[in-house]
Amino acid sequence: ERRPLIAGNWKMNGLRAAKSELRAVAAGLAGISAETMICPPFTLIGAFASDVAGTELMIGGQDCHPAESGAHTGDISAEMLRDAGAVAVILGHSERRIDHQEGDAIIKAKVKAAWRAGLLPVVCVGETLVERDAGEACAVVTRQVRQSVPEGATAANLVIAYEPIWAIGTGRTPTTDDVAEVHGAIRHILTERFGAEANGIRILYGGSVKPDNAAALLAVSDVDGALVGGASLKAADFLAIARAA
Ligand code: 13P
Repeated sequence: ERRPLIAGNWKMNGLRAAKSELRAVAAGLAGISAETMICPPFTLIGAFASDVAGTELMIGGQDCHPAESGAHTGDISAEMLRDAGAVAVILGHSERRIDHQEGDAIIKAKVKAAWRAGLLPVVCVGETLVERDAGEACAVVTRQVRQSVPEGATAANLVIAYEPIWAIGTGRTPTTDDVAEVHGAIRHILTERFGAEANGIRILYGGSVKPDNAAALLAVSDVDGALVGGASLKAADFLAIARAA
């Protein structure tokens, strides 16, 4: 049985005043059976982690450097995230792949860094619209999972997030049949690589998840939760999505 995970990716949003939104999420978790997590920008991780201590809400980062420490100006290590109170980290988000030219090899190194620091990596994969229209979505995500996930993945140390790039922030989502097909392909490559362990690895859907489409997306087979961008900035919307899981 895979316990659903509803994770909010705040991206480059949130000043200290956003703590009120975080508190509203933590205060609204009663009766929600899914695991829940908020991934704020680096600047808020320490404060947010202290704030939610003793609640079920987890705090995660949005990226980390592969190395533990060193001369890497502007970067943050997995150990630093962990030290600040994060328990997970989003890796390989398409905005990192595009804005910072991250490829599968660097993402794989970051996954190993997350494991070294005791963080749960949420590894993002997903096709462009051109790849989708060419019928290559499953091939693209299969290649990304093959090349960005190291040996040694288990149900406890890996989460995958399928985020079609053309669905991010656009209000467009794939059909539930298309989501089922891609999640099935991800489960297939995970099984090929990690055997029975793959049955327990959660595969989240991300891309324009909102309160009004969450139930339908979360009901799709092999969809084990959601990675929510814009709608995670409002506590009421995030909680509505979590209640749908
Ligand atoms: P939106 O929910 O804003 O489409 O963003 C999805 C996403 O990129 C989450 O990581």
